[in-house]
Amino acid sequence: MTTTADNRTTGQQAATDKKWVYLFSEGNATMRDLLGGKGAGNSEMTRAGLPVPPGFTITTEACNAYLELGQTFPDGLNEQVQAALRQVEQQTGKKFGDPSNPLLVSVRSGAKFSMPGMMDTVLNLGLNEQVVQGLGKMSDERFAYDAYRRFIQLFGKIVLGVSGETFEHELDRVKKATGASTDADLSVEALRQVVAGYKEIVRRETGAAFPDEPLAQLDAAIGAVFKSWNGRRAIDYRNNQKIAHNLGTAVNVQTMVFGNMGNDSATGVAFTRDPSTGRHELYGEYLVNAQGEDVVAGIRTPQPIARMKDEMPKAYEEFAAIATRLEGHYKDAQDLEFTIERGKLYMLQTRSAKRTAAAAVKIAVDMVGEGIIDHRTAVSRVDPTQINQLLLPHFDQQAKDAATKEGRLLAKGLNASPGAASGKAIFTADKAQELGQAGEAVILVRPETSPDDVHGMIEAKGILTARGGATSHAAVVARGLGKPCVAGTESIRIDAEAGAMYAGTTVIREGDAISIDGATGEVFQGAIPTTETKFSEEKDLVTLLSWADEARRLQVWANADYPRDAQRAREFGAQGIGLCRTEHMFFEEERLPVVQRMILAEDDAERQKALDELLPMQRGDFYGILKAMEGLPVVIRLIDPPLHEFLPSLEDLLVETTELRVRGNDAAQLAKQEKMLQAVRAMHEQNPMLGLRGIRLGLTFPAIIEMQVRAITGAACQLKKEGVVVHPEIMVPLVGHVNEMSISRVRIEQAIAETQQAEGVTLDHVKIGTMIELPRAALTADKIAAQAEFFSFGTNDLTQTTYGYSRDDAEGKFLLRYVEQKVLPENPFQSLDREGVGQLMRMAVEKGRATRPDIELGICGEHGGDPSSVEFCHQIGLDYVSCSPFRVPVARLAAAQAAIAGGERDR
Ligand code: ADP
Ligand code: MG
Ligand code: MG
Repeated sequence: MTTTADNRTTGQQAATDKKWVYLFSEGNATMRDLLGGKGAGNSEMTRAGLPVPPGFTITTEACNAYLELGQTFPDGLNEQVQAALRQVEQQTGKKFGDPSNPLLVSVRSGAKFSMPGMMDTVLNLGLNEQVVQGLGKMSDERFAYDAYRRFIQLFGKIVLGVSGETFEHELDRVKKATGASTDADLSVEALRQVVAGYKEIVRRETGAAFPDEPLAQLDAAIGAVFKSWNGRRAIDYRNNQKIAHNLGTAVNVQTMVFGNMGNDSATGVAFTRDPSTGRHELYGEYLVNAQGEDVVAGIRTPQPIARMKDEMPKAYEEFAAIATRLEGHYKDAQDLEFTIERGKLYMLQTRSAKRTAAAAVKIAVDMVGEGIIDHRTAVSRVDPTQINQLLLPHFDQQAKDAATKEGRLLAKGLNASPGAASGKAIFTADKAQELGQAGEAVILVRPETSPDDVHGMIEAKGILTARGGATSHAAVVARGLGKPCVAGTESIRIDAEAGAMYAGTTVIREGDAISIDGATGEVFQGAIPTTETKFSEEKDLVTLLSWADEARRLQVWANADYPRDAQRAREFGAQGIGLCRTEHMFFEEERLPVVQRMILAEDDAERQKALDELLPMQRGDFYGILKAMEGLPVVIRLIDPPLHEFLPSLEDLLVETTELRVRGNDAAQLAKQEKMLQAVRAMHEQNPMLGLRGIRLGLTFPAIIEMQVRAITGAACQLKKEGVVVHPEIMVPLVGHVNEMSISRVRIEQAIAETQQAEGVTLDHVKIGTMIELPRAALTADKIAAQAEFFSFGTNDLTQTTYGYSRDDAEGKFLLRYVEQKVLPENPFQSLDREGVGQLMRMAVEKGRATRPDIELGICGEHGGDPSSVEFCHQIGLDYVSCSPFRVPVARLAAAQAAIAGGERDR
């Protein structure tokens, strides 16, 4: 030990006798942080008595220390590596660097999370001119030299950074010179030449001789694995996958076993269950007389694992038994790597298998049936975001690959709403509606969408836009409708007026077939067949979700404006409607003129006339939705958007009025137009989202909300008369001050009472509550709760007003860049900002409950369908989350996982 050690702080003092190295026999499955996934897996298999070639793991802490110390081994590491090596020598009866009985090792990186982009594995380490001869005597010479040249090539490429091609060229040169057509034809003499040539390359490229000393080789390989943690590809991958940069990687040093020692040797990989379908059978491939890299390099075509049953029955039986045992041990499907050396099976890796959504669900449910896991574990095994994909139409992968091969992939935009669709490209909402209603498959293609396009979106199979982000109008509405959407496809140009779309040199005209994949953002020319899944036929998913229902505390409601959506939500398991918007109905063709008359009315009488016309229509809407949700709560929100949304845009009006003026031949039309222009001008606001909308509008024109309440109550009375049990709740939007709530409450109660009287029906108590979507509402929630029987967090607006971001503009202008550059950890419109917005919610929950202990609490913002946000809602004690119908299954699973995780935390 050096004298400087005395001056070290205690922390570093402790580091000198720190344990950096664990034999496989010392570790176990719980040590993934320290030993990485591969190390923990090999340790666990060793402990379980499975045939694992002896070896040891150098910890992730050693990696971090090495990097911190400026690429030097921390004190004690060298000694511990050598001690471990001696142990391995004892276990194998071989000796590292000893020509008479050589131990060769592989050096394998292995972080906590499997990470492409980190150092590849070096095989056959420990060879030099003397050792290779000893190895030759023990096995055969050709094998020994083949191992040697592979080692120099791998080590040269991976550790010394010499380009792999240089070695390949040399190999080709020798093959030509000796008349060998494949690697296997190379004679011992030829392989000797290759080795000499490789060493010359290393000397030329690195300026130093290839390291001959086995321990020096080992140190260099270990250092290279450590360094690869900070390689560019590894860093990029971690950024992309949100893996912390300070975890470090472990290094595994393991006795080599040889799958290339003849026809009774092999190497392979296999899953304990089919990772794409979940079928319970070994799935994988193997290669006879080969070393690991041969499989990956694709030089020879591997055989399906089932053939091993015939070709190597004994090894197969043993492997199949181990696979079953490992599954039982880990209680999860495993991904296994193995090698057979002269008939003897060795396990080299086990890890939990990556799988498709369909496989994840099937495996979880099957394993319960097999008695391997319980319901709660099964529920925890499936990623909620994955199951969404399961239910949506998707392209047949082969057809998609073929389309790509044919050059039909036109562009890639933002994967704004999942699912896949094919249909005729149509450039206006009216046309899309017309064709859609006529039963044609249509893709609505727009530069971007606005509320004017919704009728077309409803009838389209999918939506494609050139502009806008993940919370653009197109994306939000599409997700709500459960339709695929590719947004912000900037590489295409859409000329809606000309009815054409330009992608590179391709022109798509109205009526031409296109296909969009909302899960990937891909846009194709021509049709691609889709496959659809029916929820009720997904038996395994239905079963899994029933187990989720056992575990969760949060209820799951849905946002639905139409009876059809409510019906679907119910099929998906929704327990109520958390947000029924009333204004969409105003946009419908026959109603819009009436709505406009109502807005433009010059006096109360005229306005009332228009409202009287609207009332039966709205009553019909509510009748439908309440009936569809028989027995369940339906929260209906009173009118919310600024009125100008129902009028033509100022720009359009100016153009049209000017034209009429110039033509000067239609005085009546001009007068009408002028009046509209005047009204729109008068209504114009700089910040309409902060303007006359929500309850501000309701109190400015109380007759509107009174009409809505009458319509709701009337529909409920009618249903009651018909013997249908309904539970409407009335929700007041955008309350910022308690007085807004108390004043509207009086009017709402009065309208309810009058309607009941007129109908001669007494309803069960109709709850009146509010949205919490302004910071001031959250801050004064105790006061508001005195007037509100429920709170529903409108987290879209609450995020908008807490951050002060305009949701319509932020993404395009700066928000996506913010997320990319890590100014913000996440897009707060996608994943709830727990720190800021979440704090307001927490406060409102506490204050609300303090005033009114039985207050009903929910969320109806888009976050209600985001698993992480659902978890937060569980944690702060909401009663329900409400999300778009298609996300109900996702939310059911996410709510269960939150409850299970919470239970585990409390334990
Ligand atoms: P990866 O993380 O890329 O899977 P591995 O470290 O698992 O890399 O190594 C890749 C392959 O190398 C293994 O699947 C196996 O075929 C081979 N290999 C690694 N270590 C050994 C060993 N000790 N003996 C024989 N083959 C090995
Ligand atoms: Mg591996
Ligand atoms: Mg709102």
